Amino acid sequence: MSETLELDPRDRGGPAQPMLRVEGLKKYFPIRGGLLNRTVATVQAVDDVSFLVHKGETLGIVGESGCGKSTTARLLMRLMEPDSGSVVFDGDAVGDLRGITVNEMRRQMQMVFQDSYSSLNPRMTMAESIAYAPRMHGLGRKEAYDRAESLLAQVGLNPRQYARRYPHELSGGQRQRVNIARALALEPRLVILDEAVAALDKSVEAQVLNLLGDLKEKFNLTYLFISHDLNVVEYMSDRVMVMYLGRVVETGPVAEIYRHPRHPYTRALFASKPTLDPDRRTTEMPLTGDPPNPINPPSGCRFRTRCAFAEAVCAEKAPALAAPLDGDYDEMSPHLVACHLPAAQRAMGVHHV
Ligand code: SF4
Repeated sequence: MSETLELDPRDRGGPAQPMLRVEGLKKYFPIRGGLLNRTVATVQAVDDVSFLVHKGETLGIVGESGCGKSTTARLLMRLMEPDSGSVVFDGDAVGDLRGITVNEMRRQMQMVFQDSYSSLNPRMTMAESIAYAPRMHGLGRKEAYDRAESLLAQVGLNPRQYARRYPHELSGGQRQRVNIARALALEPRLVILDEAVAALDKSVEAQVLNLLGDLKEKFNLTYLFISHDLNVVEYMSDRVMVMYLGRVVETGPVAEIYRHPRHPYTRALFASKPTLDPDRRTTEMPLTGDPPNPINPPSGCRFRTRCAFAEAVCAEKAPALAAPLDGDYDEMSPHLVACHLPAAQRAMGVHHV
């Protein structure tokens, strides 16, 4: 990365230190064309994204597909290199000479993906898949397989029944349980769940969500929970971060954001959510149309082409995240909104109670 934070060594570790501090994360994908295969355009997938994840909490990330939430997760895991920005894991800058290596960070930060089948090697049994990473990190064969069997039991799969099975012999829900066990095999402290329940049936989804809640308590985990499903994010998260076209538009405690969403995009997103609950009715306009092309996003506020409140200033400069003018400011868990106009932040007829 081109930029890293200067850290005071006294700040490293400790309960007050955030588990994850992300500053100015940016990733543009070049589009090449022409005879010389030159860069003819760039997709601005993640643009200046900053946030904290506190120890022991679940931070939910929501937004329409293409908003940059999964790219953010992959940048954190260094499955792709960011163009700029810094990631600090429990006080240690990742990839910095005075911090921790990417390999050490990956031991402490694991990820569960949406596609349970392609996440597993079809030629490995479930026990082999779970034991693989511990063995690569030097654990003996017996200890690694004992750990795999113990983890299978922890995720609700009888090791006698499932340890020797192959991925194609399991259901989607069972495979995702194995993927969760695999993510826990190196005893991580933070787990990124990227649409981890999106492909499951509703009844199985509820079981896996409850399992994730139990495992979080049992192993003292911190979660980064990425989903397009607003109900699931509300159920799982302590705080939520809303992304639109590669940028963060609103963040804060989940109860506060779901009751009093301020950003016009968040309100439109919630208004698009089907509900049978009369207490959650809203007179806000739901989202219409598709997000603009990320190759050529609107200037200034990227939501302006779909925002009913847009004014000239919205096209001129990008709004920074700031506390709403009439909100209480909580230093540990601030409610922040990226919108120029206070009037646009005052919801009309919203009853997310
Ligand atoms: Fe709408 Fe302007 Fe606020 Fe963007 S900055 S959300 S365009 S009012």
